[in-house]
Formats: sequence, C-alpha cells, structure tokens
Amino acid sequence: MKSEESMFRELVENSEDIIIVADQEFRIRYSTIAVIRVFHVEPLSLLGRPLTQYISQEQVNRWQHRLHSESHLEDELKVKGPQGEVYFEVYITVMRDERGQTKGFAIKLHDITEQKIKEQELIRSNQQLDQVIYKTTHDLKAPLMSALGLIHLAEKASVEEKDQYIGMIKRSLINLDHYLNEMNDFFRNDKLALQREKIDLEDLIRQELNDLQGLAPGIQVQIDVAVAAESVYFSDRVRVRTVLTNILSNAIKYTDLQKQNPFIKIAARINDRACQLTIEDNGIGIAAEHQEKIFDLFYRATQHAPGTGLGLFIVKDTIEKLQGNIAVQSRPGIGTKFIIHIPNQLHVPVVV
Ligand code: ADP
Repeated sequence: MKSEESMFRELVENSEDIIIVADQEFRIRYSTIAVIRVFHVEPLSLLGRPLTQYISQEQVNRWQHRLHSESHLEDELKVKGPQGEVYFEVYITVMRDERGQTKGFAIKLHDITEQKIKEQELIRSNQQLDQVIYKTTHDLKAPLMSALGLIHLAEKASVEEKDQYIGMIKRSLINLDHYLNEMNDFFRNDKLALQREKIDLEDLIRQELNDLQGLAPGIQVQIDVAVAAESVYFSDRVRVRTVLTNILSNAIKYTDLQKQNPFIKIAARINDRACQLTIEDNGIGIAAEHQEKIFDLFYRATQHAPGTGLGLFIVKDTIEKLQGNIAVQSRPGIGTKFIIHIPNQLHVPVVV
C-alpha cells in the first residue's frame, strides 16, 4: 500500500491547479508540474527564485501584509503567460512550525481564465446592448416623427401636394425598415447557430446586387463580378449575405458623384481552405484617421449619405463569427477596397 505521503503527493502533482510552497521571503521552494502547462517552465527551474519574478512586487507586498494578521487569504491574480493573460483564483495558507512561527506559505493557483474571458465578453455585450437600446429608441423616433408630421400635412394638402407627401412618407418608412433590418442582423449574429451550407457565391452576389438596385436611383455604377472557384464553397449563407449587403450598399451609397465612371469591382477566389473576397469602389474614400474606427459601433465618418453607423460593425462581428477577417484600404477622393477572408467549411465541421 502506498504511504499517505506518496498518495498525497500524487494527488497534488496530478492536480490541474498550480501548488507552490514558498518560504517566508516568498522564494519558491516547491512547485507542482502544472506550471509547465500554463507557464511553459520546469518546476525545478523555479526553485529558489523569488515569486516577484512572476508576480508584481506590489501584489506580493499586499499578501504579506494581510498574512501578518490572517492565517489564509483568497484573492484574484492576473499574470502574463506565454500565450497571453492568465487569470487565477489564489488561496494562500500560512505554514507554521511547532512553535507557531511562520515558516512559509502554501499557495494554490486555480486557473479561471476561461471563466474571466466569458465574464468580460458578457460585460462587453451588455454595454453594447445598452448603447444599442439607447441609440435605437432615439433613431427610430426620427423617421417615425417625420412620417407622422408628413401625414398631418398631407391631410390638409391639395390633391397634387398629397402625392408629394406620400413620396416623402414612403422614404421615411424605408429608412425605418432599413434600420430595423440592421437591428435584426445585429441581434441575429450573436444568437443564431452557425450554419454550414453550400454557397454559389456568384449567384449570391448577383441576387444581392439585384436587391440593391433601388438604393441609388439615377446613379449609373459600373459593376464587375469575377468569381474564380477552384472548389465548392461551404459557409453560412445568411451571414455571408449580411456581409455582402452592408459592404455593397456602402459602395453604392458612397459613390463619388464628381466622377465620370463610378465603378464597383467584386472579385472572389475560392479554394478548399478559404474564400478571399475583395470589393473595390472609386467612391469618396475614407480619410486615414477614420479607417481604424469605421468598424466601431455607431461610428460614422461622413454625412455624405444617411446611415446608422451600424453596417460595418455588423460586418466585422459577422466575419469574426465565421472565423475570418477583414481589412480596408482607402484614399479620400480615390476609393475604397475591402479585403475579406472567410474560411471554407468544406472539410471542417462548424464549431458553435
Ligand atoms: P453608415 O454607412 O451607416 O454610416 P457603416 O458602419 O456602414 O455606417 O460605415 C461606417 C463609415 O465608414 C461610414 O459612415 C462611411 O464614412 C465609411 N464608409 C464605409 N464604406 C465606405 C465606402 N465604400 N466608401 C467610403 N466610405 C465608406
């Protein structure tokens, strides 16, 4: 039968938690092998080193101070690991000799990084929700009040004027509809599970362009579509379409009316690993100082055309959900190019 001590040692060594024994000066005297997983260091290499080499002096001072009057403490700790920040729940117990003198400390570090990241995501999405609710109630009111005002005027107007008012009411309600659609995309991206469907990208782009036709009546934009597919493409159709809707509607909305030949060039290359999509226009462009912020919630870089500042936030959020990425290149007065990379789910089952 194993001795109690060896059983205990085995238990400690196999624990997912890092257990460290430190002396009175907080120098490491013993560490379990769990440090390898988190910090990529051998427990033996830590022996004799001060804890302050890994944890701030300030934090250790605070613990020391508390442990003068308490026999154990609980705290939270954030440290830089080789793979980014690691969060721990810390339990420290004072170890005493037979005479009751402090001979060192037993420190248990319980990894709570996953839980912390989830907590931070929750805080972030709660803050976003607050912002959205605040902005929505404000922005929905504007087209609604304007439609109500116009109805009021139309009631008293002559027959010819009535038609004019009806046209204006229609525009106001289209704005409202557009806003509600964006809200829908915003909430749907977070809630709906990822789908894996076969997508005919060229067909999807053409459908989208067809739906966007009425967006800029009277403006002639030359649109080229070139899709080179080496492989079939699998992704989430609704989400890919959300990306196309927003980027293409912007490319149309921000056309430069000074130019003789407004164009939009859509090019895609698909292989079994990914789809690389570029959407380029020769519209008004985006000044360098705005380029980083255009993906932020409600950020607008121009008043050139009406908008909510939601479109590119939804695009980025959606692309991240698809495990892809997006970059922008733009020069004011020259044009804008979005470069989008979305993995092909051909072989890979979606992770929800
Ligand atoms: P919105 O278009 O509702 O303002 P978006 O989030 O879709 O909001 O875009 C954010 C900002 O980025 C826009 O206000 C605009 O200034 C800029 N932008 C986006 N796409 C283009 C484009 N193709 N050409 C020029 N500016 C653009």
